Amino acid sequence: MFKAIMIDKDDAGYRAEVKTVDEAQLPEGDVLVDVKFSTINYKDGLAITGKSPVVRQFPMIPGIDFCGLVKESRHADFKVGDPVILNGWGVGETHWGGLAQQARVHGKWLIRLPAGMKSDQAMSIGTAGYTAMLCVMALQRNGLTPDSGDILVTGAAGGVGSVAVALLSSLGFRVLASTGRPQEEAYLKKLGATEIVDRSSLSEPGKPLGKERWAGAVDSVGSHTLANVCAGTKYRGVVAACGLAQGMDFPGSVAPFILRGITLAGIDSVHCPLADRQEAWDRLGKELDPAKLALIGSTTVGLNDVIPLASQILAGQVRGRIVVDVN
Ligand code: NDP
Repeated sequence: MFKAIMIDKDDAGYRAEVKTVDEAQLPEGDVLVDVKFSTINYKDGLAITGKSPVVRQFPMIPGIDFCGLVKESRHADFKVGDPVILNGWGVGETHWGGLAQQARVHGKWLIRLPAGMKSDQAMSIGTAGYTAMLCVMALQRNGLTPDSGDILVTGAAGGVGSVAVALLSSLGFRVLASTGRPQEEAYLKKLGATEIVDRSSLSEPGKPLGKERWAGAVDSVGSHTLANVCAGTKYRGVVAACGLAQGMDFPGSVAPFILRGITLAGIDSVHCPLADRQEAWDRLGKELDPAKLALIGSTTVGLNDVIPLASQILAGQVRGRIVVDVN
């Protein structure tokens, strides 16, 4: 028997509770993991409150990421005691997730905890930090170096944005941080941003092509912001698009693509192939400055605290990452 957050939807309504679950009820999979830490992401907030149809089948244990030790394995790559991380793959949406003391998953979804990284540290990085690294990898794979020019990060004070600012500045890039929170200027500069850009200068409808201002960008905002980011990208620049904080739409023009040859690189963390995931996590282990990770900050809570926090995260009342010690 183990403890888990369980979401149910039936005639009595949509509800989440902390429950005791029998191991025999766990879904199919070739690896059983003793979960040590999970997190509460925005998506988990949506799942727990039912504000958006994230959960596709019931009952469901939420939690899109976790870190733990292999307890049983029928997968050739993992043996008992191996420290592992899971992000995405529909876990916490269509397959029981990480906000539980145990999880049974497919070994092909797991990656190894990088050497020297602690499991609570991995969860303070979480899906947001791993997505930020995928964005950085996309900029570099498309040829950007610190000599190419400035890199703009939108939604800079958010989870993805903060880690992107920290990683890019440590790699020697000059980083412009776009934020709607001027009070976070000192924080963003400590993370490594050189200049702050007011997000309102990017969020309204703009021209199809503007002044060439940055060589690349990490955009977690979408909508008009992404269109303006593309319009301000230098010749042959690269924009990594990973989010939709402003909106799902992309009201842009082909002008930056056909006149400036810019590249728009789409970033998906959920079904990202294993080799890229492992590379992203290994690089996070080596390149994310622990002092900057500490600055981004995380609060550790227990399983019993998760349900009230789910509403707070949706209301934007949570600063930094929430790590859940499930035991
Ligand atoms: P956060 O909520 O931590 O950060 C989002 C940031 O976006 C906010 O901090 C804010 O930055 C900015 N923002 C919020 N609302 C608006 C708005 N209306 N207009 C302009 N900017 C806005 O989220 P995460 O960093 O965890 O995630 C960022 C985005 O990336 C989300 O849309 C998320 O769904 C997506 N995502 C996608 C993944 C993928 O696989 N592609 C994986 C993980 C996340 P500031 O205060 O600095 O202005």
